[in-house]
Amino acid sequence: MSIRKVKLSLKSKTTLEGAGVRLKRAFGYADESLDPFLLLDDFSSSNPNDYLPGFPWHPHRGIETITYILHGKVEHKDSLGNGGIIGSGDVQWMTAGSGIIHQEMPKPMDDDPELTGYQLWANLPVSHKMMDPRYRGITQKEIPEVIIDDKVKVKIVSGEIDGVKGPVQDVITNPEYLDVSIDPNHQFSHRIPQDHNVFAYVISGEAYFDDDHTQLIDQKNVVMYRNGDEVHIKTEEKPVRFLLVSAKPLKEPVAWRGPIVMNTEEELQEAFREFKNGTFIKHSSKIDN
Ligand code: FE
Repeated sequence: MSIRKVKLSLKSKTTLEGAGVRLKRAFGYADESLDPFLLLDDFSSSNPNDYLPGFPWHPHRGIETITYILHGKVEHKDSLGNGGIIGSGDVQWMTAGSGIIHQEMPKPMDDDPELTGYQLWANLPVSHKMMDPRYRGITQKEIPEVIIDDKVKVKIVSGEIDGVKGPVQDVITNPEYLDVSIDPNHQFSHRIPQDHNVFAYVISGEAYFDDDHTQLIDQKNVVMYRNGDEVHIKTEEKPVRFLLVSAKPLKEPVAWRGPIVMNTEEELQEAFREFKNGTFIKHSSKIDN
């Protein structure tokens, strides 16, 4: 049994996205230790001016996005004809495949300006880059929670713990996506297959993310790991809450520009050409504006 060591921890960086959303980007590049994940944006803020500009109509091709809202809401619409609200505790995942056009507009809840939410991009393999797009949404009530030793709570968005399965089961790269809370002075151990990549993103509190106990890592940090069979996360006097995400890497070439991620530069150029000339959407479009 080998315990994974922290390779790197990085503070997320303020980035302007969409129509001027001020968010924190945990990572946004293709890296072999993050593969098949491409990007993690944390759009949490207590100031609506940071998120109200939103992400108006824009295309995606070649990826899946997984949006997890802990507090607040996001209104969305897409070219498949879906529309609705992702509310507190809900998850939406979208397979762009051959192409989707959508908008995602964060909104405060009544008098409460607080928004807490994350969007993860998972790459699609060559074999599925041009699959039909699809969209799924699940509500907070459908996300099971497992309690371990009375001191660890794990919400399972996707993956399985102690025979309990998360509801997100058809993301092509089959990631495990856990929302883990650990009480003070406790340790959480979790097995992850050797050949999978894993990262953690700290939501609140602080913890040691390996057995070296050299550095307590706190909120807004992304933790990348070296190889091993298991992660050990240990708290001291403060609790911690973090996302723990893993999957098997694709190890395929990445050609990426903005919202479109393909394997070659030619495929990127084709995608942008199609977007310009109106042939981007391969499914029957129900977009009305
Ligand atoms: Fe989008």
